[in-house]
Amino acid sequence: MIIRSDWHVHSEYSYDASTPLDVIGENAKKAGMRYVGITDHVNRNDKQYLGDLKRSAAGVTAAREKYPFLVLGAELTPIEKPLFDYIAETGTRDGFVPPAQEGPYDIMLAVTKQELKALGLRYAVVAAHRRVDLPNAKVLPPDLNASIKEWYRQQMFLAADERVTVLGHPWYHPEGLWYDDFSVIPRGMNADIFAALKENGKYIECNRDIFTDKKSAEKFRRQYAEFLREAFEAGVPVTYGSDHHNGYPDARPTVEQYLIPAGFSDGDFSEISEKDLW
Ligand SMILES: [Zn+2]
Ligand SMILES: [Zn+2]
Repeated sequence: MIIRSDWHVHSEYSYDASTPLDVIGENAKKAGMRYVGITDHVNRNDKQYLGDLKRSAAGVTAAREKYPFLVLGAELTPIEKPLFDYIAETGTRDGFVPPAQEGPYDIMLAVTKQELKALGLRYAVVAAHRRVDLPNAKVLPPDLNASIKEWYRQQMFLAADERVTVLGHPWYHPEGLWYDDFSVIPRGMNADIFAALKENGKYIECNRDIFTDKKSAEKFRRQYAEFLREAFEAGVPVTYGSDHHNGYPDARPTVEQYLIPAGFSDGDFSEISEKDLW
């Protein structure tokens, strides 16, 4: 196997996941994984997510007694500043009305690096999941060019943010907007992202979900593996993230069938080094 550690797994402490840490620990042991990072979601600065983060941190810290290869992390996602501010003030997103504004909303993340470190976290995977640039972007019909521009904006923001250890699932899109042909993403954007990641000492993720999502075409998967190879050749270390939410099957053979033709071989995948862990 080219992949020997997994830096993106969700446990039962994530709002959208159900796998007990024991199941992850036992399956990872059987598969001979060197490290498994638990990265439960912290999507917003509200009670629900901050509570989940605390429970995840306590759970993983306890499970490390039995499974010392577990590493405590989290998955963060950009949030629009008006929503962040509203929650900070009221404690909830209920009643939030997105304000009209010239130009895109600023990007925030739910927690500070200090808060993450205080809970014992060692790193964060951070990824774009939705548009946060304009009011109610979620309910608008997907717009290819505006979406590409917004994903680029978020990913460039993340490439320079101190909370980001790994840029999670680059160019993931919930509706698979470009999952038939990845060449719609301008090469210059990727070159910019790789350069910024490299300059700031960040990792880029090879996410299993991209290769198993029913929405992603064969052609897209091959192009995506080549994109990861370009990142690697540009000097950005590549980590693997299975991103499993329910159960912990070993999906590496499926992913590696795309990685090998793209040029990846033994030793090309990275572990997050001690100097990069918090
Ligand atoms: Zn994600
Ligand atoms: Zn995830």
